[in-house]
Amino acid sequence: MGIPLASESRLASLEGRTPTIATLCSHSSLQIFHGARALGFPTLGISVGPPPRFYDAFPLARPDRFLSVPRAKDLPSAAEKLRAEGAILIPHGSFVEYVGADTFADLDVPVFGNRAVLAWESDREKERQWLDSAGVPMPRRYDDPSEVDGPVIVKYYGAKGGKGFFLAKNRAALEGFTPTGPHVIQEYVLGTRYYMHFFYSPLSDRGYRVGHGSLELLGMDRRDEANIDELYKLGAEEELLKAGIRPTFVVTGNVPVILRESLLPRAFDVAARIVERSIELFGGMVGPFCVEGIMTEGLEFKVFEVSTRIVAGTNLFISGSPYSDLLEPGLSTGKRIAQEIQRGRSEHRLAEILS
Ligand code: AMP
Repeated sequence: MGIPLASESRLASLEGRTPTIATLCSHSSLQIFHGARALGFPTLGISVGPPPRFYDAFPLARPDRFLSVPRAKDLPSAAEKLRAEGAILIPHGSFVEYVGADTFADLDVPVFGNRAVLAWESDREKERQWLDSAGVPMPRRYDDPSEVDGPVIVKYYGAKGGKGFFLAKNRAALEGFTPTGPHVIQEYVLGTRYYMHFFYSPLSDRGYRVGHGSLELLGMDRRDEANIDELYKLGAEEELLKAGIRPTFVVTGNVPVILRESLLPRAFDVAARIVERSIELFGGMVGPFCVEGIMTEGLEFKVFEVSTRIVAGTNLFISGSPYSDLLEPGLSTGKRIAQEIQRGRSEHRLAEILS
C-alpha cells in the first residue's frame, strides 16, 4: 500500500467519472495523448494561444479538445474549467518550466505524481542532499577553487540547458574565472552519458520490488548537446575560447542507447535508492523519472541529475523500447502513465498516485 498524496477535496472533481488526461501542448504531449487514447481516456490539450496545427499531422496523438490560455502563467485562472472537465494534469519538463514551479505546486487541479518532489528537484542543494543521503554516487563538489585537482564544470543555479556553464581543465584554468552568480564547482566526469527512463509504481505488487511497489525500466537515451558534442572536431578549448567559441549544452535532440547488460544491476540499485529515499523525505516520487549520469572507464556511474517527470528522451520509444518491450510489447512511458491511472481508478487508489 502506497502513501496517500492527495486529499479527498483535491480528488473531488474526479468523483464518479472517467478522468480527462490533460497536458500542455509541448515536450512529450504527443506521447502522453497517444498513450491516454490507447486506453480510452478523453484527452485535453492546454495550448498557449491558439491550438498548434502540428497535431493535425498526427491523428493518433491529437487531443480530443483544446483549452487555450494567453500565457502559461495564466493556468491558475483555468483551474475551475479543468476541474469541471475532470482533468488529471500530466506534468512534463516544459509544463513545469513554463508555468513556473511555484504556480504549478499550488494549482488546485489533480496532478499525476507527487508534486512535493518539485521542491527537491528544482533546488540543486536539496537535490544533492536527497541523492547523497540515498548513497548515490555523484560528481565531487568543490567548496573552494583551491581544492580543485582535475577538470571541473562550473554550473550556475537555474542555468537552462547548461547555458553559460564553464569548463576548466584544471585549477590553473579556473584562476581567470570570475563567477557572475550563484554557482557550484563540480568534478567534470569523463565518460559516457546515459539518461535512464524509470517508472516507480506504488500500486504494483509484481516485478522488481522497491518501496511500496515496483520499479520498471522503460528506456534509455543520450542527448545531443549543441555545440559541445562536436567541439572535439575543432580542437583544444583554449584555442576555441580565443576564437570566442564557448561550449554549450543546449539539448537539440536524443539518440537511443542501451547499457551493457552487466551494468543493469547497478542502474536498478541507483534508481531504487533514489525512490526509497524519496519515500522517507517527502512521501515518494511516483511515476516516470530519469536518472542522468556518466559511466566512467572504471565502470563507476556518477549521477549529475534526476528529472522527476517524463523526459523528452522517452519520445524515442512511442512504440516501445528494448527495455519496455520486455514488460509489454509497444509500451511507451505515455501509455504506462495512462495504465497507472486506470489501475488507480479501478482499485480506488488514485490518492496514492495523484497529488
Ligand atoms: P545539467 O544541467 O546538470 O543537467 O547538465 C547539463 C549537461 O552538462 C549534461 O547533460 C552533461 O552533458 C553535462 N554535465 C553536467 N554535469 C556534468 C559533470 N559533472 N561532468 C561532466 N559533464 C556534466
